[in-house]
Amino acid sequence: MARKMTRDNARAFYAVLAKNGPSPQTELYYTNPYTLVVAVALSAQATDVGVNKATAKLFPVADTPKKMVALGEDKVADYIKTIGLWRNKAKNVVALSKMLLDDFGGQVPADRDQLEKLPGVGRKTANVVCNVAFGQPTIAVDTHIFRIGNRTGIAPGKSPLEVEKGLEKITPEEYLMDAHHWLILHGRYVCKARTPECYRCSVSEFCLYKDKTPAAGVKPASALKKTDKKKKTSSKKTSSKTTAKKTKKTTIKMANKPKLKPTSKPNGAKK
Ligand code: SF4
Repeated sequence: MARKMTRDNARAFYAVLAKNGPSPQTELYYTNPYTLVVAVALSAQATDVGVNKATAKLFPVADTPKKMVALGEDKVADYIKTIGLWRNKAKNVVALSKMLLDDFGGQVPADRDQLEKLPGVGRKTANVVCNVAFGQPTIAVDTHIFRIGNRTGIAPGKSPLEVEKGLEKITPEEYLMDAHHWLILHGRYVCKARTPECYRCSVSEFCLYKDKTPAAGVKPASALKKTDKKKKTSSKKTSSKTTAKKTKKTTIKMANKPKLKPTSKPNGAKK
């Protein structure tokens, strides 16, 4: 079973992140709730930097659902061609803009369930919009947060939803609003996917990850334990070899020991 961080340690974990980054912000470029929806929808399987490059040109010409629909799918596609899955994303951006016009009076709803009805908007995107645009204490679990939840033991789970529920339970109320940003930024810059930089991690003492990355030149704790085990095993082997040798020697000695013939019979002994 996955190890789980205690409530006290989770509080201390957040306290450190809060101290290091008191006002965390999204790194996505947006100008209003609508452009935030579009930017987050575009960011699926793409970097914020890549999305910002594209939207820096797109948003000045289309920052409302009406303008986006007027621009049309082909032209939207031209602006976002540098982002992965751009064809499908262009289709969704225009479709969600149409739905906002038809069903929501051109306004972005401040409600997760309503947001999830928009084409290309899943729970993660809806949570980001609720949190960033409408100040709701939602936690959007992306790849970074999913990894941190499991790796540190703060909210282990097999699915993003399980991690989200776990985080909602364990995160102290005062940290809920910014938890999502602290965790994303920590995952993006310190607790990286391939090699977490544990040697410079400010929350290392609360994290339950076993194979923490040591600073260059220092052996990881787990390797040291293995070396210790090896030493113990080899010293055990050596001592058992020595015992074996000793036994052999003793046996040889015993074997070479001349058999003594009794020179006289003990008193009263019968033949
Ligand atoms: S100690 Fe390592 S694994 Fe744990 S949170 Fe820090 S960087 Fe991530």
